[in-house]
This record gives sequence, C-alpha cells and structure tokens, in this order.
Amino acid sequence: MRIIRVALDVPVTSLFDYRAEHVAVQDIGLRVVVPFGNKVMVGVIVALADASEVPPARLKSALRILRDVPALSRADLQLLEFCSDYYHYPLGQVIMNALPAALRRLRSAAHREDDCFFLTGFGLNADWSTLPRRAVVKHRVLAALHGRGHLDQAAARALSARAPAALRELAARGWVERRPCPAPREGVAAPPAAASPPLTAAQAAAVDSIRASLGGYTAWLLHGVTGSGKTEVYLRLTATALDSGKQVLLLVPEIALTPQLEATVRSRLPAALVVSLHSALNERERARHWRLAQSGKARVVLGTRLAVYTPLPDLGLIIVDEEHDSSFKQTEGMRYSARDLAVFRARLRGVPVVLGSATPSLESYSNALSGRYRLVMLTERIGVPPPRVACVDTRGERLANGLSARLLAAIEERLAQGHQSLVFINRRGYAPVLMCRACGWTSGCHRCAAHLVLHLEIGRLRCHHCGHEEPVPPACPECGNPALAPLGQGTQRVEAALKQRFPPARILRIDSDSTRRKLAWNAMRRQIHGHEVDILVGTQIMAKGHDFPLLNLVGVLNADSTLYSTDFRAAERLYAQLMQVAGRAGRSDVRGQVLVQTEFPDHPLYRALCENDYAAFARAQLAERRQAGLPPFVHQALLRAEAPRLATALEFLGDAAALGRGLRQAVTIYDPVEATMSRLAGRERAQLLVQAGSRRRLQGFLQAWHDKLAAHAPRKVRWMLDVDPLEF
Ligand code: ADP
Ligand code: ZN
Ligand code: ZN
Repeated sequence: MRIIRVALDVPVTSLFDYRAEHVAVQDIGLRVVVPFGNKVMVGVIVALADASEVPPARLKSALRILRDVPALSRADLQLLEFCSDYYHYPLGQVIMNALPAALRRLRSAAHREDDCFFLTGFGLNADWSTLPRRAVVKHRVLAALHGRGHLDQAAARALSARAPAALRELAARGWVERRPCPAPREGVAAPPAAASPPLTAAQAAAVDSIRASLGGYTAWLLHGVTGSGKTEVYLRLTATALDSGKQVLLLVPEIALTPQLEATVRSRLPAALVVSLHSALNERERARHWRLAQSGKARVVLGTRLAVYTPLPDLGLIIVDEEHDSSFKQTEGMRYSARDLAVFRARLRGVPVVLGSATPSLESYSNALSGRYRLVMLTERIGVPPPRVACVDTRGERLANGLSARLLAAIEERLAQGHQSLVFINRRGYAPVLMCRACGWTSGCHRCAAHLVLHLEIGRLRCHHCGHEEPVPPACPECGNPALAPLGQGTQRVEAALKQRFPPARILRIDSDSTRRKLAWNAMRRQIHGHEVDILVGTQIMAKGHDFPLLNLVGVLNADSTLYSTDFRAAERLYAQLMQVAGRAGRSDVRGQVLVQTEFPDHPLYRALCENDYAAFARAQLAERRQAGLPPFVHQALLRAEAPRLATALEFLGDAAALGRGLRQAVTIYDPVEATMSRLAGRERAQLLVQAGSRRRLQGFLQAWHDKLAAHAPRKVRWMLDVDPLEF
C-alpha cells in the first residue's frame, strides 16, 4: 500500500493524498479517479509517498488509475510545476487545465469514440467456426478485422448497424480489443513535397545561424519586416529539426491564421504528421491531436497559446510567430504568457526557440539588445518594396464623417484604377457614444464603467464589454431633448459615409459584428480575392496575416486616440498594429500606399512609422521606459480584486499592501487604485501594483505574500495575481 499525491482541479494550492495499491514510479503522470467530498473526480498523480499528514482513518483510497493514455512525462510535469510557481496558481488547476477536456472527464466518451478495434492474438488464432452460423454480423466483422487489420467506429457501423454490439460481445470473449487508432498516415506513401523557393541571402543567413544552434538552448529573436519571408525561415528550420528526428512546436497568435499555415506546412513537409491545437477544435479532435503529439506520431504541432503545454517527447525546436501579439497572454484564470512559457520550456528541454516578429515586443527586443537573446534580421521585403506611409495632417480640416479630403481623393483614384482600398478604424458600431448636447448626458452602461456604443442598423445601444443591450432612447433620459447626437466614428458610420460618397462602389464592412456568423469571414475573403469588393472598412480583424493582392491603399482613422493613453504600452501596441495594417497594402506588383490621419504628424511614433524605422522607435521607447522605471527594466505583478462594492475591494487591497510592506522586502508596493474598467458586468474592480528590479526578487516576495493573502482574503472578494501584466 502506498500513498499517491494527486493534483485536482480545485482552487487550493495543496495536492491531495490517497491510498493506492499496485503503483510504481512509472505511474507518476497518469490520470487517476478519486473520491473528493461527495463527488468523484479525475486527477493526475504527481508524486508517490510512504506517509501522509492526513490521519490514516481519514485517508481515502483511489478508485482506479487510468492507463488508456500514457503518463505525463517528468519534463511535462516540470513545465507545469514551473507555471504554478511562477504565476502563483494552484498546481492541480494548472495540470488539469493543460489536459484536453476529454481527458479530464470521468467517462471520456469522446476518447472511446476515437479508438479502433483490433483482433487480439487470441482472436487471431481462435476457431471462428465455433460461432453459430447465424451470427452473421460477428462473422462479417471478424473477416473485416482479419483483412484490414483494424476497424474504426465509422467503418464498423458501415458494415452493419449491429456491428458495435457484435464487437462488444467479441471483446467480452477476448477476441477483440479496442486501442487508439494507428496514426492516419501510417503505411501510406507521402505525396511529393511542394517546391520551396531558393532562399534570399538574408533568409539563408538567418537559417544557417539558427540551424547551427539546434541541439541546445538559444533564444532567437527573428526581427523581419512584413513580407520578408519569415515563414520560409520557419519551414526550413522545421525541416531540419524533423530530419534529425525531432518534433517542432509552432505557436501562432490566432486560430484564424492556423488553416493557411497548416496547409503550407503540410504541403512542404508531407512526410510529417502535422496536427493543430486550438480552441475551435471539438473536444474529440483536440484530445486526438494531443495524444498524437504525446505518442510522438505527430511531428509538428501548430497551435495557439494553449498548445504550449502539449507533451512532445522529441521536442527539438519551438517557434513563436508574431511573438509581440497580446493574444499569447491569457487574460483570465491563470494569466500566463505562452510566449514566455515557450522560452522557459526551450531552456528546460535544451532546444532553441525562435521568436519572430516585424515589431518585436519591447521585452524581447531589449533582451536581444542586451545579448540575452540572439538577434537575426530580415530587413528587406521580398518582391515589391514596402508601402509608402504618410501622415495626413487633419488639424483645421472639417472631416466628412471622419474622412479627410486627401484620403477620399486617394480612394477615388483607386476606384478609377480598379484597385481596392481599406479604411481601417478600430471601433465597431456606428458611433462610440450617443450624447445630448443640451445637458451633456452620454449613453453609459449601468453595469460597466464604459459607454454604450450606438448600433444604428439594429437601432440599439450595446456595451462592448458585458454585452448589455437596450433600445436607443427617443429623447435624452435626463432633459428630454429629442436631438441626441452620435459622437465619433465607428465602422458602420464610415461605411455609411463611403456609400453616400461613392454610390457605385462595392463596400464591405469587416468587423466582429459582420463576421459573427460562422464562416462569414471566409466568404468575405473570397469576395475580396475575387474582386467583388472595391472598398473595405475594417477593424483589427483585417490587420493580421491575410494577403489581399488587389489591395493597395490603406487609410487609418482615429489612431490618435491611443497616442496619449495612460497605458504605457499603448504606443508599442499602436506601432505594431499600424505596421501590420500597413503590411496589407501592396502585396502584389503595385507598390502600396498608407495614409494615416492625425493631428500630431510630428509625433515620433508616426515619424518612425513613415520611415519604417522600428529600431529608432524601439530605442526611443526603451529610453523612456528606463527613465520612468517601467518594464522591461522592472518587473511587475498586479493583485486584482473584484467585489460587489468597490470599497470592499479597495479595503482588501489596502490590507494586502500592509501585509506586503510588513514582509520588508526590496519591492515597491503602490497604493490600491480602481481598475481602468472599474466596473465590469456589475462587479467592481480595483488593483494593486507591485514592482521589483529583478524577477527573482519579485518572485521571492510574491511567494511569501501569496500565502498570507490566501489566509486573509474575505469571502466577498475575488482576487488573483497577474504576473507580468499586460493590461491595467
Ligand atoms: P512575413 O511572414 O515575413 O511577413 P512571408 O513569409 O509571408 O513574410 O513572405 C512574404 C512573401 O514572400 C510570401 O508570398 C512568400 O511566399 C514569399 N517568399 C518568401 N521567401 C521567398 C523566397 N526566398 N523567394 C521568393 N519568394 C519568397
Ligand atoms: Zn439632455
Ligand atoms: Zn457593460
């Protein structure tokens, strides 16, 4: 009799002890079914022990150990333990949340559906004639199994509706067993690989440098301007890693970008099994892909942030594309950064990690400047030169629904030439707020500290934070003035204005309202490629990774609103976003043009943008951050608290600050403040910032502080630590 220490998905930091028979060290990492309170739960065995602090009389026994899926490896568990320590999140929840949902369930029907049927050795040698002749279906499935080697569920049902029952009976006799299906490509000759273009000199240099580092840990920052062929570099490196028997993990920020990349990787590396992992897969697919990776059958795993945890026994290379993208950071539950975990994982496993971007995060860029990461650059766009970026000075101009005369003229010119234009505005809806000019009333959400956005099409006001909706009031609720005015522009208003200005033009609006219907975005992409559209009006959905060869003008509206934000990362984000949108222009043979409307044409950000000089922008930003004592020169954590009333949250944070100061460590503890979104969906939010000169010092403090907080937090307060926060 031994004791197993089990990780469970419950919000407490401890593991749980159970008695278990017949366990050995190799069972660490297996799933186990245990009683918990009056429930039965699935957990993971994290350690074995000979004694427990739980008195023997209260120590329960594990119900059964699940051996259908191999154990998580030592390295897998190490990554998850690091995560739990670094983000100060319960290990049980970290481990269970890293598993596909189907493996967290007691009865994973999903995974059983995945299995195939095989003849056992006993079944192969059995005398089938001992079965009654009228057992037609049994004879048929046995013959099929004998001929084909195995049957999956669909194939079995195709033989007969009664095949599943027959297979169950044969399994009971010991003639048939169910096991995971063989990998899809086993035994099938791979199609020939798609041709790869000869590398440019810059690409070749990048590939050679990084390739030489395979086999050990190095963090690479691949800084390549938009269109410089970073994907080709990833493909060549992946090919090399596969040739030396390694698996490759390729992370991308968005689900929408996976199908295109997946198709490219498949066509270029047809001999390797490629699987994707992201939240749009159904449970069954996700569990299947995960197991293919864990078993080593899948050689390339392509996925979004959650894929960073995928077990990969032969991991040899990690690539993070668009590493600066904020979607690598989870913003609820455990607020981890998949980019940072990728770097940690690479170091743990002794493999290189490549972070690629046209506009690296200042964290990564400063690591490259300091030599902690190695920098490789692709400075030239392949094919056409990069678009010309210019500012349109809108000071003193009366804009027509937000559109300047110069931008309208440029659009008109493109219409005449048969080219496409994009008007980029990062606000959906008609107008961001409805206002009464008589008394100053504005449309606010009663549940959030946010304005209700006017959606004229449906005649409603909608909160973009909590989803609350209400009809547009016929008159001002405060003073009765019937002439309420929409203030500012959203995509719908710009679309309406363009329709009025260019009646014959075919205009398409692309924002999360218009693409909400499943597959709508795919259909829209086809329309754009098929030149069924002249003018696009879009939000950042448009900005990422899609090629539109006919598009060669991009107009940017309303960028100024982020320029003087209180968030110190706003400029960095704006630069990245504008570079990305600019990259949509002129991907074919005609050089593109980008017009940025602004009242601050001399702002250093716009100047760097016009000169396509990321390095100048980054250096200036880093100098400012150093001076102001901001990341990456300091390390931060945010204690977030939520309560029905703001006072309760602030009071808890005040106590937390006092507890922290009492620990007398070399960290700076600020005062509690309301969150930027101080009210969200009816709950009030506040936060407390802690900062230190080194990661280690911050971590040392957080560890001690976290334990104290757990003992002190009142029931009404929900709190969490956000280590390396990106949003304030
Ligand atoms: P990035 O990801 O750096 O923005 P891409 O990888 O999308 O750039 O490459 C831009 C374009 O250049 C793509 O159409 C790609 O097929 C093409 N390309 C990449 N490398 C080469 C090469 N060596 N020769 C010719 N075309 C290339
Ligand atoms: Zn009013
Ligand atoms: Zn709201």
